[in-house]
Amino acid sequence: MPRNNESEKKNALTRRNFLQSVAVISAGAALPQVALAESAQKITTAPKPINIDSPDAALAALLEGNRRFISGQMNSCSVPIGPLLEETVNEQQPFAAVLSCADSRVPVETIFDQELGRIFVARVAGNIATPEMIASLEYGVAVLGTKLIMVIGHSSCGAVKAAMLNKDAPGQITSLYEYIRPAIHAGGHNLSASIHDNAKIQAKLLAKASPVLSQAISEGKLRIVPAYYSLATGEVTVLKD
Ligand SMILES: [Zn+2]
Repeated sequence: MPRNNESEKKNALTRRNFLQSVAVISAGAALPQVALAESAQKITTAPKPINIDSPDAALAALLEGNRRFISGQMNSCSVPIGPLLEETVNEQQPFAAVLSCADSRVPVETIFDQELGRIFVARVAGNIATPEMIASLEYGVAVLGTKLIMVIGHSSCGAVKAAMLNKDAPGQITSLYEYIRPAIHAGGHNLSASIHDNAKIQAKLLAKASPVLSQAISEGKLRIVPAYYSLATGEVTVLKD
Protein backbone atom coordinates (compact mmCIF):
# COMPACT_ATOMS: atom_id res chain seq x y z
CA MET A 1 0.00 0.00 0.00
CA PRO A 2 1.29 3.48 -0.85
CA ARG A 3 0.78 4.77 2.67
CA ASN A 4 2.82 1.89 4.13
CA ASN A 5 5.61 2.40 1.62
CA GLU A 6 5.72 6.07 2.45
CA SER A 7 5.78 5.24 6.15
CA GLU A 8 8.65 2.78 5.66
CA LYS A 9 10.64 5.35 3.69
CA LYS A 10 10.09 7.90 6.40
CA ASN A 11 11.21 5.45 9.07
CA ALA A 12 14.30 4.53 7.08
CA LEU A 13 15.20 8.18 6.64
CA THR A 14 14.62 8.89 10.29
CA ARG A 15 16.83 5.98 11.27
CA ARG A 16 19.56 7.05 8.84
CA ASN A 17 19.50 10.58 10.16
CA PHE A 18 19.64 9.26 13.70
CA LEU A 19 22.61 7.02 12.95
CA GLN A 20 24.44 9.84 11.19
CA SER A 21 23.79 12.15 14.12
CA VAL A 22 25.08 9.60 16.58
CA ALA A 23 28.13 8.96 14.40
CA VAL A 24 28.91 12.69 14.41
CA ILE A 25 28.44 12.98 18.14
CA SER A 26 30.44 9.87 18.98
CA ALA A 27 33.24 10.73 16.56
CA GLY A 28 33.84 14.08 18.27
CA ALA A 29 34.32 17.58 16.88
CA ALA A 30 38.06 17.26 16.37
CA LEU A 31 37.77 14.78 13.44
CA PRO A 32 37.79 16.14 9.89
CA GLN A 33 34.50 16.20 7.94
CA VAL A 34 35.77 13.60 5.47
CA ALA A 35 36.27 11.05 8.25
CA LEU A 36 32.80 11.77 9.60
CA ALA A 37 31.22 11.34 6.17
CA GLU A 38 33.04 8.04 5.64
CA SER A 39 31.98 6.85 9.07
CA ALA A 40 28.32 7.69 8.42
CA GLN A 41 28.46 5.99 5.01
CA LYS A 42 29.86 2.80 6.51
CA ILE A 43 27.07 2.69 9.08
CA THR A 44 24.22 3.25 6.65
CA THR A 45 25.56 0.78 4.08
CA ALA A 46 26.22 -2.07 6.52
CA PRO A 47 24.33 -5.21 5.41
CA LYS A 48 21.40 -6.14 7.62
CA PRO A 49 21.11 -9.73 8.87
CA ILE A 50 17.48 -9.85 7.82
CA ASN A 51 18.62 -9.72 4.16
CA ILE A 52 20.50 -13.01 4.55
CA ASP A 53 17.81 -15.48 3.67
CA SER A 54 19.53 -18.73 2.67
CA PRO A 55 22.20 -21.09 3.98
CA ASP A 56 24.49 -20.26 1.06
CA ALA A 57 24.09 -16.52 1.63
CA ALA A 58 24.88 -17.00 5.32
CA LEU A 59 28.06 -18.92 4.49
CA ALA A 60 29.10 -16.27 1.98
CA ALA A 61 28.52 -13.53 4.60
CA LEU A 62 30.73 -15.31 7.12
CA LEU A 63 33.53 -15.85 4.61
CA GLU A 64 33.34 -12.24 3.39
CA GLY A 65 33.65 -11.13 7.01
CA ASN A 66 36.71 -13.36 7.44
CA ARG A 67 38.29 -11.76 4.36
CA ARG A 68 37.72 -8.31 5.89
CA PHE A 69 39.33 -9.55 9.14
CA ILE A 70 42.42 -10.89 7.35
CA SER A 71 42.84 -7.72 5.28
CA GLY A 72 42.37 -5.42 8.29
CA GLN A 73 39.30 -3.78 6.67
CA MET A 74 36.84 -4.58 9.44
CA ASN A 75 33.39 -2.93 9.44
CA SER A 76 31.95 -4.15 12.73
CA CYS A 77 34.25 -1.98 14.83
CA SER A 78 33.03 1.22 13.18
CA VAL A 79 29.37 0.81 14.14
CA PRO A 80 28.54 3.01 17.15
CA ILE A 81 27.56 0.92 20.13
CA GLY A 82 24.58 3.05 21.27
CA PRO A 83 22.30 2.45 18.25
CA LEU A 84 23.47 -1.15 18.03
CA LEU A 85 22.44 -1.82 21.62
CA GLU A 86 19.13 -0.12 20.96
CA GLU A 87 18.51 -2.31 17.89
CA THR A 88 19.32 -5.54 19.67
CA VAL A 89 17.99 -4.97 23.18
CA ASN A 90 14.64 -6.66 22.52
CA GLU A 91 15.51 -9.14 19.79
CA GLN A 92 18.29 -10.99 18.06
CA GLN A 93 18.41 -12.05 14.42
CA PRO A 94 21.56 -14.13 14.04
CA PHE A 95 21.93 -15.41 10.48
CA ALA A 96 24.47 -18.09 11.41
CA ALA A 97 25.49 -20.22 14.36
CA VAL A 98 29.04 -21.32 15.09
CA LEU A 99 30.24 -24.21 17.24
CA SER A 100 33.82 -23.28 18.08
CA CYS A 101 36.57 -24.13 20.52
CA ALA A 102 36.83 -22.03 23.69
CA ASP A 103 40.42 -21.13 22.74
CA SER A 104 41.07 -17.42 23.38
CA ARG A 105 42.69 -17.07 19.96
CA VAL A 106 39.46 -17.90 18.14
CA PRO A 107 37.10 -15.01 18.99
CA VAL A 108 34.26 -15.86 16.63
CA GLU A 109 32.61 -12.47 16.10
CA THR A 110 36.02 -10.88 15.50
CA ILE A 111 37.36 -13.38 12.94
CA PHE A 112 34.10 -13.08 10.96
CA ASP A 113 33.87 -9.29 11.46
CA GLN A 114 30.30 -9.41 12.76
CA GLU A 115 28.41 -7.05 15.04
CA LEU A 116 26.31 -7.88 18.08
CA GLY A 117 23.30 -10.04 17.34
CA ARG A 118 24.51 -11.60 14.09
CA ILE A 119 26.17 -14.86 15.12
CA PHE A 120 24.83 -17.35 17.64
CA VAL A 121 27.98 -18.78 19.19
CA ALA A 122 28.33 -22.01 21.16
CA ARG A 123 31.86 -22.51 22.50
CA VAL A 124 33.42 -25.45 24.26
CA ALA A 125 36.97 -26.81 24.36
CA GLY A 126 37.45 -29.00 21.30
CA ASN A 127 34.28 -27.69 19.53
CA ILE A 128 32.48 -30.90 20.45
CA ALA A 129 28.81 -31.71 19.99
CA THR A 130 27.79 -32.42 23.59
CA PRO A 131 24.06 -32.56 24.47
CA GLU A 132 24.28 -28.99 25.82
CA MET A 133 25.86 -27.70 22.62
CA ILE A 134 23.30 -29.51 20.48
CA ALA A 135 20.47 -28.04 22.57
CA SER A 136 21.91 -24.54 22.19
CA LEU A 137 22.23 -24.90 18.42
CA GLU A 138 18.70 -26.32 18.16
CA TYR A 139 17.50 -23.13 19.84
CA GLY A 140 19.48 -21.08 17.35
CA VAL A 141 17.89 -22.85 14.39
CA ALA A 142 14.34 -23.60 15.62
CA VAL A 143 13.66 -20.38 17.54
CA LEU A 144 16.01 -17.78 16.08
CA GLY A 145 16.02 -19.07 12.51
CA THR A 146 19.75 -19.31 11.85
CA LYS A 147 20.43 -20.58 8.33
CA LEU A 148 23.85 -22.06 8.86
CA ILE A 149 25.84 -23.89 11.51
CA MET A 150 29.59 -23.80 11.08
CA VAL A 151 31.66 -26.19 13.21
CA ILE A 152 35.10 -24.67 13.34
CA GLY A 153 38.27 -26.39 14.49
CA HIS A 154 41.58 -24.57 14.70
CA SER A 155 45.29 -25.23 14.39
CA SER A 156 47.20 -26.30 17.53
CA CYS A 157 43.97 -27.15 19.39
CA GLY A 158 44.93 -27.97 22.98
CA ALA A 159 41.82 -30.08 23.55
CA VAL A 160 42.65 -32.37 20.61
CA LYS A 161 46.30 -32.53 21.74
CA ALA A 162 45.26 -33.50 25.27
CA ALA A 163 42.84 -36.15 24.03
CA MET A 164 45.57 -37.52 21.76
CA LEU A 165 47.99 -37.83 24.69
CA ASN A 166 45.16 -39.27 26.82
CA LYS A 167 46.88 -38.10 29.99
CA ASP A 168 45.28 -37.79 33.38
CA ALA A 169 44.16 -34.23 34.10
CA PRO A 170 42.65 -32.43 37.08
CA GLY A 171 38.92 -31.97 37.54
CA GLN A 172 36.68 -32.86 34.62
CA ILE A 173 39.06 -32.10 31.75
CA THR A 174 39.24 -35.76 30.74
CA SER A 175 35.47 -35.77 30.13
CA LEU A 176 36.24 -34.00 26.83
CA TYR A 177 38.35 -36.87 25.53
CA GLU A 178 35.57 -39.31 24.70
CA TYR A 179 34.05 -36.85 22.22
CA ILE A 180 37.39 -36.33 20.43
CA ARG A 181 38.66 -39.94 20.30
CA PRO A 182 36.86 -40.85 17.04
CA ALA A 183 38.66 -37.95 15.31
CA ILE A 184 42.04 -39.07 16.64
CA HIS A 185 41.38 -42.53 15.29
CA ALA A 186 40.22 -41.13 11.93
CA GLY A 187 43.22 -38.81 11.77
CA GLY A 188 45.71 -41.61 12.42
CA HIS A 189 47.04 -39.85 15.56
CA ASN A 190 48.29 -36.95 13.44
CA LEU A 191 47.37 -33.66 15.16
CA SER A 192 46.46 -31.60 12.10
CA ALA A 193 44.51 -34.42 10.48
CA SER A 194 42.68 -35.13 13.75
CA ILE A 195 41.70 -31.46 14.16
CA HIS A 196 40.27 -31.44 10.63
CA ASP A 197 38.50 -34.76 11.21
CA ASN A 198 37.15 -33.54 14.54
CA ALA A 199 35.35 -30.60 12.89
CA LYS A 200 33.91 -32.94 10.26
CA ILE A 201 32.82 -35.58 12.78
CA GLN A 202 31.16 -33.05 15.12
CA ALA A 203 29.34 -31.47 12.17
CA LYS A 204 27.97 -34.86 11.11
CA LEU A 205 27.06 -35.69 14.69
CA LEU A 206 24.92 -32.56 14.98
CA ALA A 207 22.70 -33.61 12.10
CA LYS A 208 22.65 -37.24 13.18
CA ALA A 209 21.86 -36.60 16.85
CA SER A 210 19.25 -33.90 16.37
CA PRO A 211 15.91 -34.45 14.60
CA VAL A 212 15.36 -30.68 14.84
CA LEU A 213 18.51 -29.96 12.82
CA SER A 214 18.13 -32.85 10.37
CA GLN A 215 14.58 -31.76 9.56
CA ALA A 216 15.70 -28.19 8.91
CA ILE A 217 18.41 -29.56 6.57
CA SER A 218 15.93 -31.74 4.66
CA GLU A 219 13.67 -28.70 4.20
CA GLY A 220 16.55 -26.68 2.75
CA LYS A 221 16.46 -24.21 5.64
CA LEU A 222 19.83 -25.15 7.14
CA ARG A 223 23.35 -26.19 6.18
CA ILE A 224 25.95 -27.54 8.58
CA VAL A 225 29.52 -27.08 7.41
CA PRO A 226 32.84 -28.06 9.01
CA ALA A 227 35.65 -25.51 8.82
CA TYR A 228 39.24 -24.89 9.93
CA TYR A 229 40.78 -21.72 11.34
CA SER A 230 44.49 -21.05 11.00
CA LEU A 231 45.98 -19.25 14.02
CA ALA A 232 48.90 -18.22 11.82
CA THR A 233 47.00 -16.56 8.96
CA GLY A 234 43.55 -15.82 10.44
CA GLU A 235 41.97 -17.60 7.50
CA VAL A 236 38.85 -19.78 7.75
CA THR A 237 38.68 -22.66 5.26
CA VAL A 238 35.47 -24.62 4.70
CA LEU A 239 36.19 -28.36 4.77
CA LYS A 240 34.68 -30.95 2.50
CA ASP A 241 32.62 -33.32 4.60
ZN1 LIG B 1 40.98 -25.67 20.69
